[in-house]
Amino acid sequence: MKKSISIIGGGFAGTLLARQIIERTNQCTINLFNHISELAKGVAYDCNQNSALLNVIASKMSAFPDDNEHFLNWCLMHPNYKNESKSIVGNAFLPRKIYGEYLISIWEETKLLAKEKQCDLIVFSEKVTSINEYENHFFVSTKTQKITSDICVLATGNEEPGKPKNCSDSFLESENYFSNPWKIDFSKINYSLPLLIIGNGLTMVDTVLSLRESHFNEKIISISPNGFNILPHRNFNLDFKSQLATIQTPISLLELVHYFNQEVKTLRKFGVSPEPIIDAFRPNVAKVWQQFSAEEKAKFMGRVRHIWGVARHRIPFVSYDKIMKEQINQQLEILAGKLVELNQSKSGNNVILWDKRLKKNKEFIIGSVINCTGPETKITATKNDLLNQLYAIGIISQDSLNLGLRANTKTFRTINADNQENEKLFAIGSLLKGELWESTAVNELKNQAKELAVLLTNELQKT
Ligand SMILES: Cc1cc2nc3c(=O)[nH]c(=O)nc-3n(C[C@H](O)[C@H](O)[C@H](O)COP(=O)(O)OP(=O)(O)OC[C@H]3O[C@@H](n4cnc5c(N)ncnc54)[C@H](O)[C@@H]3O)c2cc1C
Repeated sequence: MKKSISIIGGGFAGTLLARQIIERTNQCTINLFNHISELAKGVAYDCNQNSALLNVIASKMSAFPDDNEHFLNWCLMHPNYKNESKSIVGNAFLPRKIYGEYLISIWEETKLLAKEKQCDLIVFSEKVTSINEYENHFFVSTKTQKITSDICVLATGNEEPGKPKNCSDSFLESENYFSNPWKIDFSKINYSLPLLIIGNGLTMVDTVLSLRESHFNEKIISISPNGFNILPHRNFNLDFKSQLATIQTPISLLELVHYFNQEVKTLRKFGVSPEPIIDAFRPNVAKVWQQFSAEEKAKFMGRVRHIWGVARHRIPFVSYDKIMKEQINQQLEILAGKLVELNQSKSGNNVILWDKRLKKNKEFIIGSVINCTGPETKITATKNDLLNQLYAIGIISQDSLNLGLRANTKTFRTINADNQENEKLFAIGSLLKGELWESTAVNELKNQAKELAVLLTNELQKT
C-alpha cells in the first residue's frame, strides 16, 4: 500500500517540500493542508502592493538549491522583464507579488509532475485543528474531515503577532485594531486620524509604504523598544572574506562579538558599514547558535537580538529613501520607548507612549493601530489551534526561549515533552527558529525542503 504524507501549511516551505518529494519518488500520496493565505504564496508573497519589495536581489531568490538562477531565468521570460538585461534584473529588488507569481508557476508545474509520476497530490483548503497519533498512524482533523496519514510535516510558518501589552481588551476587540499586518483590509483603516504602528522592522516599512499607496495621508507613529533606524541594502555584492564565514566551533558569544568588532574596524577604515560581515556569517549562523549554551542564547536575546535584527533586516534603497523622506517631512515619527496605555474614546483612541529619548510620556489621538511586532513564537500565545493542541498533549515541545519547536535539525524530527524524537512527525521553516535562530528566508527554507524530502523519500520506500 502507498504510504501517505500530510503536510500542514502550504506556503513556500510546504509546497516546495511537496515538489522536492515528488521529484524523488513515484506513486506517493501527499495531503497538503493550507488555510488563510493563497496556496504556495503564503503570508509573505500573497500581496498586491507594488511597494512591497523582496529584501533580497532577484539573482539570490531561486526556490531550488540546485539551480541558483531559476528565479532570475523565470523573470527573464516574464512580460515585465523580458526586454531587460540579466544583470539589471539579477541585481534588482523585485515586487514580492512577482515572487508570488513565480511560486504559483512552480506549483502548477508540481501538479503536472505529480500526475506524470502517479503521485496523488491532494489539497485541502482548510485549517487543521488537531493531529492525533494512534497505532503508528496520524489522524489529521479539520472541521469537516479526518484524514489518516503515515507521516506528518508541520510547515505552519509565520504566526500572527502576539497581543501587545497595555492595550485595553475593548480596544483589541475593536475594529480599529489590526492584529495581522500581512492581511490588512485597507478599506477598514481610519483615514482621518493619525495611525499607530507597534513595531519598527521590515513589516513596519511595508505597512507605511502600503498605507501611502492606498492614499492614507495622516501622520504615522511607530513605537518600539529601541526605535533603531532601518538600514538600506548597501554593498550587497561586496563579497567580504570574513573569518566568520569559516569560523570553527566551539566558540563563545563573547569571542564571536570580539571577532565581529575586529572586522567592523577593518571595514570602517574603508568607510564600509558592517553588513557584509553579517552576510558572510549568515550560512554559519545555525552551526554557531546550536553550540551556544542556554545562558549565551538568553544573553543574545537580551543584548544582541535587536542589533542583529537591524543589521540583518535591510531594505532596498528605493524603500529606504521613501521612509527617510517620511521622517524628514514629519509624516512618520519613529519613537523609542513603549506603549503605556491605549483606550477607546468617542473622539478617537487615546494612546500614551513613553519616549525613552526625552524621558517623558507623549499623548496622541489616533484612529487605527497595526501590530507589526513580528510573528508570535510562543506556542500558547499563538492563535494556531493545531500547535496548541499538539503542545497540550505533549506531542511537541518548545525550546526554553519560546522561539520555536524542539526538533533534531539533522532529521527534522520533532521532540516531544518526554524528550523523545517522534519518528514520523517532522517540522520545517520558522518553527525551527529556536533550534537554528535563522530559519525563515527563502535561502534557508529551500535547503530544508530539499534535505527533508531526501529523508522522507527514504521513509516512503520503507515497507
Ligand atoms: C512580509 C514578509 C516578507 C518576506 N520577504 C522575504 C524576502 O524578500 N526574501 C526572503 O528570503 N524571505 C522573505 N520572507 C521570509 C518568508 O517567511 C519565507 O520566505 C517564507 O515565505 C515562509 O514560508 P513558510 O511556508 O514557512 O510560511 P508561510 O508563508 O507563513 O506559510 C504557512 C502556511 O501554513 C498555513 N497554516 C498554518 N497553520 C495551519 C493549519 N493549522 N492548518 C492549515 N494551514 C495552516 C498558513 O495559513 C500559511 O498559508 C518574508 C516574510 C514575510 C512575513
